[in-house]
Parts: sequence; C-alpha cells; structure tokens
Amino acid sequence: MTDFILRGGTLVFPDKPPEKKDVLVKGGKIDSLLAQGAAAPGVPEQSAAGLHVFPGLIDCHVHFGMGEKITEYSTETANAAQGGFTTVLGYFLNNEAYGDVFRRELEHAVARAHVDFGFHFSTANELHIKELGEYVKEYGVTSFKYFMNFKGEEGRYLGLDGTDDGYFYDLLKESARVGRPIVVCHTENIEIVNRERRKVQSAGGTTLKDWSASKPAITESEPALRAMYLAEELGARVYFPHISSRKALDVIRFWRQRFKDVIVETCPHYLTHTEDSELGGMGKANPPFRTKDDLEAIWEAIFDGTVDLVASDHNARKKVNKDKPLWLASQGFPATASMLPVMLSEGYHKRKLPLQRICQLLATVPAKVFDIAPLKGSLAPGADADFTLVDLDKERVLHAADFASYAEYNLHEGWNFKGWPVRSISRGVTVMDEHKVVGEGGHGKYLWRRIGQPPIPGKTR
Ligand SMILES: [Zn+2]
Repeated sequence: MTDFILRGGTLVFPDKPPEKKDVLVKGGKIDSLLAQGAAAPGVPEQSAAGLHVFPGLIDCHVHFGMGEKITEYSTETANAAQGGFTTVLGYFLNNEAYGDVFRRELEHAVARAHVDFGFHFSTANELHIKELGEYVKEYGVTSFKYFMNFKGEEGRYLGLDGTDDGYFYDLLKESARVGRPIVVCHTENIEIVNRERRKVQSAGGTTLKDWSASKPAITESEPALRAMYLAEELGARVYFPHISSRKALDVIRFWRQRFKDVIVETCPHYLTHTEDSELGGMGKANPPFRTKDDLEAIWEAIFDGTVDLVASDHNARKKVNKDKPLWLASQGFPATASMLPVMLSEGYHKRKLPLQRICQLLATVPAKVFDIAPLKGSLAPGADADFTLVDLDKERVLHAADFASYAEYNLHEGWNFKGWPVRSISRGVTVMDEHKVVGEGGHGKYLWRRIGQPPIPGKTR
C-alpha cells in the first residue's frame, strides 16, 4: 500500500520548527503536504496522531560482515529499521580491485535488505587509485575511505596493505580529477600511537582509560590538520568520521575559516561514554572514549554546527570478540539501534537540542553529503516516502535482545531512554511497527549514487 495519507502527525523539518500537517503519499513518494484534516477522498489513512514525523533517517556509517558475512545484510538492515533508519551506507574493505566483490556483495544485499542502502569503498591498494573514477561511474559509489593509520602492518588485521602519505596525496589528487567524490579520512597518527601503546602496556594498563592514553587526542587532531592542508592543496573534499576530541574540533574550527570542504561526523557513544567507563573490552572503540571535557565539547560542536552529522560506526561482531581483556578485545560495537534514543533522550530532552537540528544531523546532511538527496533526507514533495515516526515521550529500557542485530549486546543495554522510533516507513511501505520488523528482506534497494545529483534507486549495473 504505497498510496495513503499520513494523518495527525507533527512534521520535523531541517530548516524550520515542526508543523502539524498531513502527508499525501502516492506511488511510494511524497505527493504533497496538506493542512491537517484536509479532504483526500478515496485515499486510505494511516494515523500518526501524537507522533513526530522525521524524514526517514540515514545511518551513513555502518560496517557489514564484520561478524558474519551475507547474513548481516538481513540482520543489520532489519536492526536499522527498528532503530528508525530507512537508509544505511556501509563500508566495504577490500585489498583488491572492487569489480567482483562489488557484484557479489550487491547481489547478497539486494536479496536481503530491509531498507535502502549504498556503499563506500575503502582504498588501500594502488589499483584503487587507478580505478577511482571507474568506481564513481560504473558502481554508483561517491565516497571512499582512507585509513591514515594503516601504515606498515597496521591494517593487516583487516587484510589491507600498508600505505603512506604519498599514497594519500595521490588519492586526494585523483579524487579531485574524477569529480570530487568524498574522501573519508580516518585520522590517526599511528607512529605516535605505537610508542604510547608500548608505554601504557609495559606499565600494565588494562582499562579504557589506558586504551585512551595509548591514543592521545592529538593523534586524532594532528592528522586532521594534515588532511585539510593536503585537501586544500589538491582540491579534494574530506570527511572526518567518528571525531571524538575537543582538540580535533578546535583544529577543524580554526581551519574552516580558510578551507570549507570538510565534513565532520561524530558517533553516539562519544556523547554518552567517557574513558572512565568500566566496560573494559566491551567499550573498546577506535577512537577511544575520551574525557568528560571531550564529551561536552562534542555536544557544544553539535549545537554550534562544527559537527555536521551523527552516524553509528555500527559493527555487529559477537560479544565473544568483545568480552575479553582490553588489549585482546576487538574494536567497535553495534550502535545503530541506540543512536536515535541517545539523540532524543540526551539531546532533545536533557540538553534542549532542537528537533530540527536532529533532523539535519541524522537525515538532511547525510543525504546531501553522500549524494542521496533530495530523494532521501527530506519531506518535500517528490522525495521518497521514507518516514521515521517518533514518540518523544515514550520511555523504554533498551535491551539488545529486542533487536534483530547479529550482535547480541549493546553499549546502552539497560539504559532507560525517553524518545523512541515507533514506526519506520520506506518508500511508503512500513518496515517497522512498534519496534517489530515488518515484512521480508529484499525490499531495500541499492542507491546508485552520482556526485552532486540525485541517486538512481534500484540500478545495479
Ligand atoms: Zn567505521
């Protein structure tokens, strides 16, 4: 049923306060926004009474297949729908040319996805620079990850070759030549980290504070500075994922006065957890949780616009990989499902973060940055009828067991959040209702992206 009128909801916009309006949906797209109660003869009704209606939210930083390949296209997109996300963008890691991997993974995903999806490719090999323009044109991928920390053997655990600043220089240069796709830079000065880690380990450190001490904030901020300087020189656009520290935010604020082509992401865990957490390996993330001052700095940056968007860095490895002594535990954890409750509970309710700002952070800006606007991230006529219906006053305790994720734990297990998504609608089709997944996998479409243009949903070749 993709023709209906959504009645009684309060619509959330990125550029103005919420308004009570009805939404007429035709053929899975938003046809028009109407005055509440406006006549719509013969059109079935769905009620959004008492709820806030966001454009379908976008989680633009997830990892598929870190726990179990293939299955996760089903479990993690179902989990996303439960968390109120109707679009996810996942990172591919691969050391070879992308052709075969792309075609194989796309086939698995198309058959299983509950929500629409796209991919970012990681770059680590000479071929990736050489074929960059082809990836943009032939695969619909307009964003590429580069790990500034994967020097020498550092990236070997993910099967990636080591690179250096010369590689980064050529990657940025080539990106400028092929139409300026986004270069997502993991900023980490691994040469400093390697020495600091040895010191912390030989002193017997085993806590999250020690993990943080092994990667001091300047190891995040200094490479950010270098990336912006190189990008300015070469005409590239850079994006900093998972920014965790005041130092990094300061350097970005300072540099933005002369260089605008920089996008800043943070993740929900940096808004709720500090290095004083006693979660041990379960709370091991890269970058690490930092100090209370850093946590406050990130909230400030969300309010003042230094942070452009929030994404989860979701990773569905099983608990067995996490529940270990700190240095042996794997990095990352599932985070898509708790992201909106964190923004509503900690942001909207506790800190008075406006809903329109949450709309920007989780929908409008990721859609623009990653070339899926205006189909996604908007309630304007012509956009896909993707909606996230939110009950702002609903209180509920988060239990990982309630979610479809392949990972059976959550950093926010047992947290009582106020503000929850209660329905997710993707192209007019309800894919989550009252926290339960509705419908089968295979509904989600691949978003074939084009730089600076609308995507082509469903195109796969
Ligand atoms: Zn990540």
